[in-house]
Amino acid sequence: MPHFICTTCGTQHAESAEPPARCEICEDERQYVNPDGQAWTTLAELRERHRTVLKQEEPRLTGIGTEPAFAIGQRALLVERPDGNVLWDCISLVDESVVRALEGLGGVAAIAISHPHYYSSMVEWSRAFGGAPIYLHEADRRWVMRPDPGIVFWEGETRELGRGLTLVRCGGHFDGGTVLHWAGGCEGRGALLSGDIVQVIPDRRWVSFMYSYPNLIPLPGGTVRRIAAKLEPFAFERIYGAWFGRVVPKDGKAVVERSAERYDAAIKRGE
Ligand SMILES: [Zn+2]
Ligand SMILES: [Zn+2]
Repeated sequence: MPHFICTTCGTQHAESAEPPARCEICEDERQYVNPDGQAWTTLAELRERHRTVLKQEEPRLTGIGTEPAFAIGQRALLVERPDGNVLWDCISLVDESVVRALEGLGGVAAIAISHPHYYSSMVEWSRAFGGAPIYLHEADRRWVMRPDPGIVFWEGETRELGRGLTLVRCGGHFDGGTVLHWAGGCEGRGALLSGDIVQVIPDRRWVSFMYSYPNLIPLPGGTVRRIAAKLEPFAFERIYGAWFGRVVPKDGKAVVERSAERYDAAIKRGE
């Protein structure tokens, strides 16, 4: 039986003979149901119509996307490390060419995902790489549409994925919203892989934060200040956001701090 994939959010669901009646991820106010009606595809169909693309972002960091763009336009990142590569975030399409290319870079030892909008075809990715464990924050367990024994729900505020690689639960956009701090990134000055938990915006001197991006629902100022506080112990120069090209090139930590202050001030102006 197929595992249907929602074409709007890219989430693969548990196997079913018929397409599911609805997509819970899209019905949540942080996403939206396709105005033309809920639609589904399969991995086999995706492989016919789309291809995976790789782009080196910096030494030991490779971006992985889909062309033409699919669903939210998700982009994953592979962090290469001597003690096992980590795939950060995920996409709906996994094909032979990407598996071969990533095997050439040392494969995937573990997968970690920022939040449910990037769960996509995570189980397929895990299986393509020998059952690599998938680290998701426990607080977002209810948003897993295809349960699998490979999923490891972690609890608490931080989790090490090996030396110099730390998952930080920031919350905000989702309760379990997580970013990945890579101490060795940006020539050792540190990089933050932020998904859209910390959103890279057009003006690269700033970032922003939202509860719902498509529906423009903001977060409370206190929540945003707490996100910045959780990142306070970590040094980072560069921030890799949710999509190709969304990169804060320098001063990342100061960018987060001043952006949280600006956000809080803007919210307070309306009170
Ligand atoms: Zn959906
Ligand atoms: Zn999101």
